[in-house]
This record gives sequence, structure tokens and C-alpha cells, in this order.
Amino acid sequence: MNIESLKSDLGGLKIIDSPNLVRLKSRDAFYFSPILKPELDHVIADLVVVPQSEAEVLRTVRACFAHDVPVTVRGGGTGNYGQAMPLSGGVVLDLSEMTEIIEIAPGRVVAQAGAIISDIDKAARAHSMQELRMHPSTAHTATIGGFVAGGSSGIGSIQWGGLRDPGNIIRLRVITMEAEPRVIDLHGDDLQKVAHAYGTNGIITEVEMPLSTAYDWVDMIVEFDDFVEATEYANDLGSQDGILTKLISVIAAPIPFQTFKRHQRFMTEGKHVVLLMAAPHGMMPLLAFTAHYPGKIAFRSDEVADLKGIPPVFELSWNHTTLRAMKVAPGMTYIQSLYPYPNQVASVAKTYEMFGDEVPHHLEFLRFDGNVTCFGLSMVRHTTDARLNEIMRQHDAAGVPVFNPHRYTLEEGGMKQTDELQLAFKKETDPKGLLNPGKMVAWDDPDFDYADDKVYLYPGIKKPA
Ligand code: FAD
Repeated sequence: MNIESLKSDLGGLKIIDSPNLVRLKSRDAFYFSPILKPELDHVIADLVVVPQSEAEVLRTVRACFAHDVPVTVRGGGTGNYGQAMPLSGGVVLDLSEMTEIIEIAPGRVVAQAGAIISDIDKAARAHSMQELRMHPSTAHTATIGGFVAGGSSGIGSIQWGGLRDPGNIIRLRVITMEAEPRVIDLHGDDLQKVAHAYGTNGIITEVEMPLSTAYDWVDMIVEFDDFVEATEYANDLGSQDGILTKLISVIAAPIPFQTFKRHQRFMTEGKHVVLLMAAPHGMMPLLAFTAHYPGKIAFRSDEVADLKGIPPVFELSWNHTTLRAMKVAPGMTYIQSLYPYPNQVASVAKTYEMFGDEVPHHLEFLRFDGNVTCFGLSMVRHTTDARLNEIMRQHDAAGVPVFNPHRYTLEEGGMKQTDELQLAFKKETDPKGLLNPGKMVAWDDPDFDYADDKVYLYPGIKKPA
């Protein structure tokens, strides 16, 4: 890799090479993991290229291919597991200035990959009272391309399921990493080749996403004395086809009162909470439904005269819950799991009982193949890495599969097996293996054995200077 020759080939493009800025743009939210923090802290690119157009992306790819320079794409850099960190150095391709919202039409939007998610929602709302079907809790800082390449689901998933479910992405425009890069439009099943592939097999420059009706969502916090009763309420509410919600989260005490500082004046210490976003026209049935449960409505955004300084409840949910808990309780981390349908409530009761306050439970309800169930984004009061691994192992053993957020590879953070479609696409689009190296085990070590939770350590990781 010859960075100086690369730089001269990239003359005229926006390049960042000041060490502090390069370091900043080489990091994401990997620090959520006490295991990844020391492993990846030194990781740094050689330079950052900030293209302003697809033509500039193509120029950068051609030059990097010619000089054998790795390219790690970056959107907002809010990914959690070092997803956007350049393990072998090289170029960080920062797409955050490719932000054009190209077209808004009934039911769909076309945007450049670097558009901020909440900007898309704002534009679609102003255009025709529409919004994206789902967004991560980082909507104000994350890009739509980063969500597609690195995210999974979020606010809206209680209605629409996961991002990779058929219909939740319409089209992706992708640039390959070849001597003469190609521009490919992917639709239908082909979307699975690059969705949630961490940019290891293509650079997404444009997305076409479905839209749904936008509402002035009402935020609510419902408090419960009992965590399992809160879970039952959330589960039953999610299953109500006639009550339109966009968010249903359950968070165990003592986290909500301790960490939701701006909402604290509405809340009671020691309570478990259910966070909700509900459509205004669904409030009457929602209130009637809630009255059948032993919960107390502590907060309704439509009844607070001045919401200044109060964040939307979605910024208390998903991984924002962990973020807030980390600020108050140093050493807090988290795990990601799935409570499989149809036994989700019983499984939640089981893990809650097993771990108590060592693993403050946090659930996000969503709809998978028409069935309501929940992800666990439970927090963990970290003591040792061995104990953290043991907690994840015990979840797996209890029938609650864990998607390990303390690994930087696609496979170990996911299904612990090769995604043949994504691997085959990488062979076709990235023959030199230059895109986000070290993130796809199947590319580097096809025979890697995931049994016994073996950890894959990418040998190409650039050593600290
Ligand atoms: P980045 O972090 O920049 O990139 C993510 C991955 O995608 C990287 O591997 C990167 O190389 C790749 N990539 C980025 N852009 C492109 C592109 N154009 N082409 C190809 N590859 C690309 N995630 C959820 O799914 N749901 C949540 O609710 C959620 N909540 C979060 C809350 C907090 C507090 C934090 C820290 C993270 C959360 N995340 C969540 C993770 C993350 O914020 C989202 O997935 C977000 O959408 C990532 O977007 P980004 O632009 O920051 O991507």
C-alpha cells in the first residue's frame, strides 16, 4: 500500500489527513464493549476521503484498487462493534457529505447513502406526511446507508419487522471494488447480498426505501411494580392489530429512574417501565387497553405543556438505554439476544430470575413474520470478560440466542456461520479483499470453527505505532 502515491492520484478530492481527525473518523461506538475497547482502541486509518459525488467514489475506488489500499466505508460512525473501524488502516471513505434526497413519492424515498435518517423523515413529512418505516435510535446522527449496511431494526419494527425483511428496502445502488468498478442496482432477494454486510462487499451510494404515514406520535411511559407484568403488557399490546404503536420497550428497575434524567420528575423510583410511541388517533383505545393492566401512566407527551429539554422517548430506547446507563453506572455494558416466539414472555421471566440486577433487563418488541416477540438488549454490570461470556453462554443455554456485540466480525456477531450469499458476492465484487478487511471471517479463514465460542482474531489488524 503506497499512501503517498494514492494521495497524489486523489488530487482535487476532499482529503483529511490530520492525525486527530483521522483518529476520530476511524472510531465508532465500539467502546460500548469492554472487550472491544482495548482490542480496537489503537485502530486508525491512514487517511480519510470525503467524496461529494458518485463519480468521486468511483475515482477513489479505482485509485485504492491500483495501490492495494483497504477501504472502510463510514456513514455517521454510530455502529456498535467497530463495524466502521479500519482494522488494516488504509482509507476511511466518509460518505457523510453525500446527503441528497433525490425523490419522494407515495410510499418511497430515494436518497444518497450519506443522508441523515432524521433529515429524510423531515423531508418526507414536509413533502406528504410520510416517514421511513423504521429508524435506529441514532436517527439524528446515523446515515441511511450506514443503517442498511450495519443496522438491524429499530423504532417502527413493532409494525414492520427487521430491516432485512422482504419489502423494507426497495433498491440499493452499489459500487464494486475492482480495477474498473461497476455500479450495480440490487433489488428483491439480491438486497441480502449487501444489507447488513458492514460494507465488506460493496459501497452503497444510493438507497430507495419504503415510506409509511407520518403521525405526531405520542410518547408515553407506563410504570409497573413487577417486571414480568410489564413484559406481559408490552407483549399483549404489541399483538393488538388495531392499536397503532411505533415503539414498545420494557426496561427493568432501577435503570429508568436512575438514568432518564429529563423524565425523572414524572417517574417513580424503583419502577419498571414500558416506553411507548402511539399514534394520536389510537390513544383512546390504548388508554382503555392499558386500564386492564396493573400499570400506571407516568408520562404522556401530549399532556405536557412544555416539552423543551425533554428528549423523545425513542432516545431512551434501543441502544440509547445502554448509552444512558453507561453514563450513570460506569462499567455497564450490554448483550443482544432474541427471545423466540411463542415462548418469549416465559423466557424473559426465566432470564430475569436467573440474573437479577447483574443483568438489568431491557426488551424491544418487534414483529417477525407476523408474530410479536422481543429482542433483549439487556445491560450487564460488567465484572470480568469471563463472566460476561458466561452470561451470554447461559442465555444461549436457556434457549435465548445471543448476537454477541463484543465481536467485530459479521459471523460472530450474527449467526455464527458463513453467509454464503454475502461471501459469493464479495468474491465477485472485491477480488483483492480490500473492503473493510477483517470483518468477514469466511473470506479470511473459510475453515474457522465457531464451536465452543472460539474467538476469531484477524491477523491483518494493524499494530499500534
Ligand atoms: P456507520 O457506523 O458509519 O457504519 C455502519 C457499518 O456500515 C460499517 O460497517 C460501515 O463500514 C458500513 N457502511 C456505512 N455506510 C455504508 C455505505 N454507504 N455502504 C456500505 N457500507 C457502509 N442500530 C439499530 O439497528 N437500531 C437501533 O435502534 C440502534 N440504536 C443505537 C443507539 C446507540 C446509542 C448507538 C451508539 C448505536 C445504535 N445502533 C442501532 C447502531 C447504529 O447507530 C445504527 O445501525 C446506524 O444506523 C448506523 O449508521 P451509521 O451511519 O452511523 O453507520
